[in-house]
Parts: sequence; C-alpha cells; structure tokens
Amino acid sequence: MNYCSHCGSAQLILTVPEGDTIPRCVCSECHTIHYQNPKIVTGCLPEWEDKILLCKRAIEPRYGLWTLPAGFMENNETVSQGAVRESWEEARANLEQLSLYVMISLPYISQVYMMFRAQLCDLTFAPGPESLEVRLFTQDEIPWEKIAFPVIQRTLTYYFQDRATGQFPLHVSEINR
Ligand code: ZN
Repeated sequence: MNYCSHCGSAQLILTVPEGDTIPRCVCSECHTIHYQNPKIVTGCLPEWEDKILLCKRAIEPRYGLWTLPAGFMENNETVSQGAVRESWEEARANLEQLSLYVMISLPYISQVYMMFRAQLCDLTFAPGPESLEVRLFTQDEIPWEKIAFPVIQRTLTYYFQDRATGQFPLHVSEINR
C-alpha cells in the first residue's frame, strides 16, 4: 500500500499499534490503521452422474489450465452464495444441494479456500468470460497434469478417494509453499 485509502496521504508507516502485537500499515496523517486480513476463495465441485465439471482458464495466472469454478468472496454475500455466483460467472452452471466439502488454508498467500460439493441442475453450462471451455470429466478423464492449482488438485483427490467409499466428510487441511 502506497497511499492511505482514507485520506490519500503517502505518509504510511509500518508499526505495531498500541495494544496490538503485529506490525500494521498506519497513516501518520489521519492515524487510520490499515488492517490486512486473509481472503476467502469460495467455489464448487459440480457433479453430474459420475462426472465433474471443470473450467479451462481464459485468464492469467495459469491460462489454459483446468480448474473448478471458484473466486474471491464479495462483500454482503454468504460463502455459499459466492460459490453459486462464481459457478455461474465462470461456467454458466446452475447448482443445487450445496454441501461444504473442503476448507484449505494457504497461509503463505493469506487465503482460505472453501469448496462445496454441488449438483448440476441441468446441462446448460457454457464458458463464462473467464473460461475458454467448460466440460464434464469422468475420473479417468481428469487432466491431472493440467490442473491449475495445487488446492484444486487436492480437492479433486479427496473427492475421488471419498467416492470410492460413498462417504464425503468435511476435509480441513492446509497447503504450505
Ligand atoms: Zn490517512
């Protein structure tokens, strides 16, 4: 951060505010403390019979690689609303029966992924502006070498392991650099 988002001053210093334990960016003009906290990424693992819907990314990073529909949560929405919204934006997918399935912390980039299992309502999915292609994959068809992010790879791994047993417990884990 180069300028105070409250008063526009460039007089920002990194300091531990009184009563705090962590260095914060503090404006020396208006004294606003600019807290920076982790972001939540929310998304879905859309199911249709024995297939999973993946999106081929039309944006950087990882252009041309495959991912599950997911993105940053917006203000004033719930986590599941965010997952439904992202699935529509990226895959034009209509989903129901959302069930929280994976929560993965990525402390090195200060993000938390929250991924829901969800049922596709129909087969009217299509690429949104951020996707080159959207299609269903059976387990054997999953392009494991072309999955965009480790967190998505792990989510898919949990899913196919669990599908073998028919039990889908919530998985809470972390990925470090
Ligand atoms: Zn300021």
